[in-house]
Amino acid sequence: MDKETPRQLDADTRSLLDSVPTQLFLGGKWCDAEGSGTFPVIDPSTGDVLTRVADARPVDAMRALDAATAAQKSFAAAAPRERGELLRSVWQAISEHADDLARLMTLEMGKALPESRAEVSYGGEFFRWFSEEAVRVAGRFTQAPAGNGRILVTRQPVGPVLAITPWNFPLAMGTRKIGPALAAGCPIIVKPASATPLTMLYLAKLMQDAGLPEGVLSVLPSSSSSEVTQPLLDDPRLRKLTFTGSTEVGRSLVEKSAHGLLRTSMELGGNAPFVVFDDADVDAAVAGATLAKMRNGGEACTAANRFHVDNAVRDEFTTKLTDKLREYVLGPGLDPDTTLGPLVNADQRNKVDELVRDAVDKGATPVLGGTVPDGPGFFYPATVLTDVPADARILKEEVFGPVVAIRGFDGEDEGVAAANDTEYGLAAYVYTRDLDRALRVAENIESGMVGVNRGVLSDTAAPFGGIKASGFGREGGIEGIDEYLETKYIALTD
Ligand code: NAP
Repeated sequence: MDKETPRQLDADTRSLLDSVPTQLFLGGKWCDAEGSGTFPVIDPSTGDVLTRVADARPVDAMRALDAATAAQKSFAAAAPRERGELLRSVWQAISEHADDLARLMTLEMGKALPESRAEVSYGGEFFRWFSEEAVRVAGRFTQAPAGNGRILVTRQPVGPVLAITPWNFPLAMGTRKIGPALAAGCPIIVKPASATPLTMLYLAKLMQDAGLPEGVLSVLPSSSSSEVTQPLLDDPRLRKLTFTGSTEVGRSLVEKSAHGLLRTSMELGGNAPFVVFDDADVDAAVAGATLAKMRNGGEACTAANRFHVDNAVRDEFTTKLTDKLREYVLGPGLDPDTTLGPLVNADQRNKVDELVRDAVDKGATPVLGGTVPDGPGFFYPATVLTDVPADARILKEEVFGPVVAIRGFDGEDEGVAAANDTEYGLAAYVYTRDLDRALRVAENIESGMVGVNRGVLSDTAAPFGGIKASGFGREGGIEGIDEYLETKYIALTD
């Protein structure tokens, strides 16, 4: 079959896809892209085209910025309660359309349907959380220490925002930015990943139906992300760039934003260590490791990438974790039996395979999986590698797939040193029954987030973000809205 020809789909899937707008959403209006270009959206379970969407050009991006700039003043002046209520209505709409959103996400991104359902719930929560935060933006008022004046500190919306989002969480990586931007009073232009534009377009439709004011949101799918975002970064009317994606692209965007001294937030790649000490509850560590590795099919920036296990419990941990991962059923994400869907595309699957081959060539032992299955789609099985040597690339690079790489250590100092042996610093996981050790290690691990005896960290109420090559800025929590606010000091006489 010609991969460019949309394939025959069952009636339910066809009607779901037909309900998704495939035009650009420019400040509240659906339009074709300049030149009427489109690009295909691929089903990772077959490699076939699902549908085509409008392919934004730089001129479309400028139209989105015109609309955002025109809306800025009135949106910032709207009552915070009004903005909060809009966000809450969108959270309700997401909840009502959760099933369609989850199926759509699985169709374009591949992951098993329960994973998509979990993302819809997590992603929607950012609207509920920031609907509540919209009314809690506060400043302060104090007397100057010398007694000769008063200090008034206020918070104001930063202005029009550009959000560039990845494919691995097509909804949540957008809502984690749109929620706080709108709560703060900033119009936002979203450039979703070209692999997964449908979820964001569907969200735009839900937001439009919920009463979104004109100009406040634009969604610009594009097959030429660098070209389409460049004029926005060059335009002084844009006041903020928030990016989630790879460290490599994040670095280049920081460079491009430097000229205009654009305010930036960077949620970048990770290389999370999962550290199991000799006093850990091994069964709890195995349950946590399964979640930390297999959530989202391993395609999460917080996914445990390296398993550093004290040699005293390493064999037991390895055997039990391998037994757990053997239970995963690989298949198309919409299949009811599937617990592990395909990876997003051939490049991603090839990279996972390359990292596994490299580790095995250097001496690692594959005890589960480790080979690309025959047939269509971008599948890769749950894989466990033991005795991974220190020079294996998989310990340095983000694997972004269902691969566990295990390496032993002896004692706390060696465990912490191994965990910190990376340029990244997003998430880390620690298993120990000793509270003193847990706090000591959590404080000494160089990362923005540490899970103690738990394998999932993400929570709308907590500040999500990294240090070192994992970027800067925080999303979620009470901190998340700060990224979209400026602090203004007004000096008053006494
Ligand atoms: P990516 O290749 O960096 O792409 C991310 C986004 O940037 C996509 O929308 C992409 O568009 C766009 N993009 C790529 N090159 C660009 C350029 N030169 N100028 C402007 N935009 C550009 O990352 P990805 O492969 O989609 O996502 C996986 C990465 O995201 C992983 O490293 C993961 O760790 C990271 N991530 C981090 C977090 C976090 O919170 N720290 C969360 C999730 C994911 P196209 O799709 O068109 O290429």
